[in-house]
Amino acid sequence: MASSQRLDADRPVVVIGAGWAGLAAAHELRRAGVPVVVLEHAPTPGGRTFSFFDPASGEMLDNGEHVLLGLCTAFARLLDEAGLGSAVAWQGLRIPVRAGRRGDGLLYSKRLPGRWHLAPALLRYSLLSLADRMRVLQAGARLARPLPAPQLDTITFADWLRDHHHSVEGIHDFWDLVGTAVFNARSDQVSAELAAETFGLLMRSGWRGGRLGLFTRPLGDLSQAYSHHLKERLGVRFEFGQRAEQILTEGGRVHAVATRSGKLIAARAVVAAVPHDRFAALIARSGLTTRVNVPALAWSPILNVYLFYSERVFHGTVAALPDVWGAFVFNRGRLLHGVDSANDGRALVASISAADGLSGRRGRDIADTVNVTLAQSLGIPPASYAKAVWQPHATFLAAPGTHRARPSTITAVPGLFIAGDWTNTGWPACLEGAVRSGITAAMACRSPAGGVRP
Ligand SMILES: Cc1cc2nc3c(=O)[nH]c(=O)nc-3n(C[C@H](O)[C@H](O)[C@H](O)COP(=O)(O)OP(=O)(O)OC[C@H]3O[C@@H](n4cnc5c(N)ncnc54)[C@H](O)[C@@H]3O)c2cc1C
Repeated sequence: MASSQRLDADRPVVVIGAGWAGLAAAHELRRAGVPVVVLEHAPTPGGRTFSFFDPASGEMLDNGEHVLLGLCTAFARLLDEAGLGSAVAWQGLRIPVRAGRRGDGLLYSKRLPGRWHLAPALLRYSLLSLADRMRVLQAGARLARPLPAPQLDTITFADWLRDHHHSVEGIHDFWDLVGTAVFNARSDQVSAELAAETFGLLMRSGWRGGRLGLFTRPLGDLSQAYSHHLKERLGVRFEFGQRAEQILTEGGRVHAVATRSGKLIAARAVVAAVPHDRFAALIARSGLTTRVNVPALAWSPILNVYLFYSERVFHGTVAALPDVWGAFVFNRGRLLHGVDSANDGRALVASISAADGLSGRRGRDIADTVNVTLAQSLGIPPASYAKAVWQPHATFLAAPGTHRARPSTITAVPGLFIAGDWTNTGWPACLEGAVRSGITAAMACRSPAGGVRP
């Protein structure tokens, strides 16, 4: 008995997937003294946050611009603890909204108590009629209190807004402008329950929660630096280029993971931190479909277009363009190279969430279209070089019915835990949700029911 206990304690917890959910789980387990092996299919960590070199611009580009809100405390803490906090520049919420001939608006938050931080901006938001501003304020007050309505997950947020008399313009110029970027789904696609919970959280979290966090280094660099920290400082073992093929059980409990290359890694528990469709495939290959139910979720795409100009054309950090497919434009030159650097205002990226309407159009064509439309909207010359980056599988589509279908970390298979942005974090699919899910999975492993001790 004593020797089998020792054997068990020597076995690592195997984390499958080195996206931010897997990295957070590895961190939390290792901090508690549990040996950890991370198996990652790709040659590098970071999952859906990666970078690549673009020879035409000579720059490292990301698979898409990522933004945090001040609410994202778990992700920020992870970076701070690894000494990587400077990778995110925090600033008060201040987003100019540029609507061409229709005029400009400004979304900002003020250091006012509690949920009042957005009230002055909403009262003055000139793209909406006075009646629409009042409706937005009323909805904000309603959402700031939790809405006890399970049926909200059966309708879209647009249904809820229409039931509360929000106009087409109010939905387009406010709710969709903000919400599409947050949910990667428009109001006519997203579950009203998820939208209500998320907007409620934003209202309640005060001005600190509304701050914007913008990355100051390529995302691929950051995940490399973070995994280096886990390896060198905490002793996490990484196996890159290894696809988990099967989770093996013995007496009903998780016992090992087999990789596609034929490796067998003994495991006292497994944290599967892979996307929903990869998880469903892994469960099927492992013969566990009758014991683990994986909801069928669809994907929602994101398009980013990187734009390089011969002169400085943009003087802020970020702007929102409701009439250019709801794009958010970021001054990537300033974020990565600094204010008044040679790239400031000359290297931009336009990020278009829920880009399903554009997905028939690829590469050069869509890059040119976004370039020209953006130039017209902002009154600037077109970029001399534009590069489109499509992510068709950016996040799951949080349609009605999905909010309550997202699974918890604990499965019916002893020793098998799930993490990932698609699990029931209560958050939209995002970095913060991914990190929180990893921490939750690690804590469940170490709970008396999980049975993993250092
Ligand atoms: C273009 C774009 C823009 C985004 N913008 C934002 C934003 O502004 N703010 C924000 O917070 N979030 C944003 N997101 C979402 C965010 O990137 C994701 O929510 C988050 O990265 C998901 O992390 P994860 O660890 O759950 O999953 P993933 O990052 O997908 O990690 C899963 C990992 O598992 C690996 N894997 C899969 N199968 C196996 C297997 N069988 N064996 C071994 N390894 C396997 C994969 O290779 C991958 O590395 C954006 C996403 C995209 C694509």
